[in-house]
Amino acid sequence: MFDLCVGSLVAGALLAPQTGLAAGDVAAAAAGKVDARFLDYPVYHGDDLGLTIDGSTARFRLWSPEAQSVTLRLYKQGRGGEAFETIKMKKDVNGTWTAAVTPVPYGKFYTFQVEINGRLLDETPGIWARAVGVNGHRAAIIDFAATDPEGWSSDKGPEVKHINDVVLYEMHHRDFSVHPNSGIANKGKFLAMTEEGTVTPLGDKTGIDHLKELGVTHVHILPSYDYNSVDEANLPANQYNWGYDPYNYNAPEGSYSTNPTNPATRVTEMKQMIKALHDAGIGVVMDVVYNHTADNDKSNFSLTAPGYFYRHNEDGTYSDASGCGNETASERHMMGDFIVNSVKYWAKEYHIDGFRFDLMAIHDTETMSRVAAALKEINPSIFVYGEGWTAGGSPLPADARALKENVAKMQGIAVFSDDIRDAVKGHYSDAADRGFATGKPGNEETVKIGIVASTAHPQVDYSKGNNSKFPYASSPSQVINYVSCHDDLTLTDKLAKSMPNSTEAERQRAARLAQTIVFTSQGTPFMFAGEEVFRNKKGVHNSYKSPDSINAIDWNLKHLNAEQFNYYKELIALRKAHPAFRMTTADDIARHLKFDNVTTPNLISYSLLDNANGDDWKEIKVIFNGGDEAAEVKLPKGKWTVVARDGKINHTGLLNADGTVQTLRGGKTLVEPRSALILYR
Ligand code: CA
Repeated sequence: MFDLCVGSLVAGALLAPQTGLAAGDVAAAAAGKVDARFLDYPVYHGDDLGLTIDGSTARFRLWSPEAQSVTLRLYKQGRGGEAFETIKMKKDVNGTWTAAVTPVPYGKFYTFQVEINGRLLDETPGIWARAVGVNGHRAAIIDFAATDPEGWSSDKGPEVKHINDVVLYEMHHRDFSVHPNSGIANKGKFLAMTEEGTVTPLGDKTGIDHLKELGVTHVHILPSYDYNSVDEANLPANQYNWGYDPYNYNAPEGSYSTNPTNPATRVTEMKQMIKALHDAGIGVVMDVVYNHTADNDKSNFSLTAPGYFYRHNEDGTYSDASGCGNETASERHMMGDFIVNSVKYWAKEYHIDGFRFDLMAIHDTETMSRVAAALKEINPSIFVYGEGWTAGGSPLPADARALKENVAKMQGIAVFSDDIRDAVKGHYSDAADRGFATGKPGNEETVKIGIVASTAHPQVDYSKGNNSKFPYASSPSQVINYVSCHDDLTLTDKLAKSMPNSTEAERQRAARLAQTIVFTSQGTPFMFAGEEVFRNKKGVHNSYKSPDSINAIDWNLKHLNAEQFNYYKELIALRKAHPAFRMTTADDIARHLKFDNVTTPNLISYSLLDNANGDDWKEIKVIFNGGDEAAEVKLPKGKWTVVARDGKINHTGLLNADGTVQTLRGGKTLVEPRSALILYR
């Protein structure tokens, strides 16, 4: 699955010529020696790249080993106008260039310009710009201490003992708040999340109050670093983009702020958003896209040390495992360090609680392990997950890639399970294809792979898996389960396309079953924002630059689909109340999760046994019927309390009309079509 990158490619920003090296060293490239020469580059491990403030002095340091000269320019404005000061930087240690300015020119902007082989490259804010002017072309000199909201020094995200306790909610800033029905004032902005007490015209909670009501533990925000595609100088145009086109990795995106021309505003407002979520007990995961840049020769990497930060083909052209025109080279010292230091910066300066790596398999396993270790040192609650695949071939050998299949080689890294995703709802790229939850037989074993979080289990036959053929996860902490995300059709649209003759009520049942499988499975559950109100994207599968009319969540759906919302809320409450769904080792799962021997297609039945993982409930029985007809199961005799049945759920037990809790005595029991039956004793 890689359409987010194909999306970026279509966006046009990446259609620049893709041949030739920025440095013009085409001859060396043609000889296939382009990447070898980078091995001789000196490396710089200091933490003062870019700008550091040292008392009353601003110190600048740029790493550019092949530069003949580097010029620093100071500007009064974030764009336009002439430099008011031009400074030749001095060659310093390990390929770096330095300059110092006293007193610190707060409120001013700067660029670097590198000369290589007698050629002046374009000006760049460098790769370490932490604050930028409008559209990010110039770096800004601001006082970061002044950007902290009140109480920031004691701000903290939720404590996470184990990643499997997390409930992830993937959200785009505009999708979430921009609809007129959101009742939110700061539509499409970081600040949307800081507004309490917002409601729809029909009185339902929205914004942060909605998240609290739903019960998710973490929001996963789509790219929020400074990206390329939205013109920050023309916000009234209301452009939309997912943001998978990175420009400045260490500064927030300007279009999500109320004033992109003031470099401090985006920093402050992003912190305010994070603080508001933390105050509500909700953590913030950031989607990071270090695997490629929006531009090739004109990226800040290329304008700093041409060629070095990217991989190349034998003929010297950019290799393209991202499907976006280039791929970065994490195995090279300065690129690997850049990724590690960048996430550390976001964790420290912005108190980010987790990171989701886009096309993570473009990076090497060693760098990803370093990322996780460095973050755990800052805060043990921070977790990391990513897409364990690439969008194309790469010069990086497959055994070194941070692939799903290599996740056991990495420490503290989780991968998305495309196994459960496709098996439950049908193949992601074939709209009409159905899955287990929509009545297509043959997916049972792959759903079981999802249920055990892709760990080794004596009752799961991996040779029958649709995607993976071996238990790639050594622990449930290495797997993120989901049935839909920003990519591809929303679950609502997928069900509409694959169940063309169904009613909306039937499709909502299928959605409930699909998410019940995700939220009761071992591993970590992940959902796409708005599915709890059955949001759609009008059938658009790659909505990366579609207008708000496609992407915005219409919050009146919360009223219309109140039953759906309540189901999701109870489902999340069930998972959070019961550690049996959140076992922490593969061994525990193998011992305490037992599948029943059923042969009916589209039927899975299993038990979580012996107060699994310290659960209050001795035995939990979970049965999924994805078929079109009711299915019969044989339940052991006993007094079973019913938690979910026939498309309804209550995490403390479903109630009869007279207010008593529903129970079953075992024996022959019917499981209604496209529904989950969950019981305990
Ligand atoms: Ca931007």
